[in-house]
Amino acid sequence: MKGSLENLNKKIIRCKKCPRLSSYIRTVATKKVKRFSSQKYWGKPLTGFGDINAKLLLIGLAPAAHGGNRTGRMFTGDSSGDWVAKVLYEYGFATVPFSREVNDKFALINAYITAAVRCAPPQNKPLKEELDNCSSYLKEELFLLGNVRVIVCLGKIAFDSCCRLLQIKGVKFVHGKSFVHGKYVIISTYHPSKQNTQTGRLTWKQWQDIFSKAKAVLN
Ligand code: SF4
Repeated sequence: MKGSLENLNKKIIRCKKCPRLSSYIRTVATKKVKRFSSQKYWGKPLTGFGDINAKLLLIGLAPAAHGGNRTGRMFTGDSSGDWVAKVLYEYGFATVPFSREVNDKFALINAYITAAVRCAPPQNKPLKEELDNCSSYLKEELFLLGNVRVIVCLGKIAFDSCCRLLQIKGVKFVHGKSFVHGKYVIISTYHPSKQNTQTGRLTWKQWQDIFSKAKAVLN
């Protein structure tokens, strides 16, 4: 399966199925922002990463323009990544509590991180056709990650993508909700974006509870 995942990842990195997003990520990578102006941005679609035997899968929305699109790894180098890394470390799914750049010491343990869309979208809002275009990658990834038992969906878009993929109907996104579907336990949470964490919509305790639940299922 490792070889197949590598092939999938090569395909993702080369993908240009969404002209709007392909153009946007290149533009962001060229223009940059002042605080990262000396850095070389990744500026390409992002693959998932982690332990290929993982039992825990996190599905995010998409890479952040100046986070993953800059560093080349999802949830790396932005505030959402800080929350993800810290909680995964706390529950034994990561080696260190920070994820800042591809060459840091952050590695996932029994966990894998991916996203519904692999290119950073403007305003973090992918179009429906872009979600559709990218869904085949998530499908293939889920098939190749054969040991996954718990799927944590970060935000409504990730949750809806997961439901479409697994043909789950009639279930609405609710923070903290979990249910069994086939071999999976699916848990939904608000996305750990600044808009949610800085406004108190997602508290650290609520965030911990999600991973405490995931851990309990896997123990
Ligand atoms: S969002 Fe997905 S399908 Fe669209 S260009 Fe990026 S990798 Fe390809």
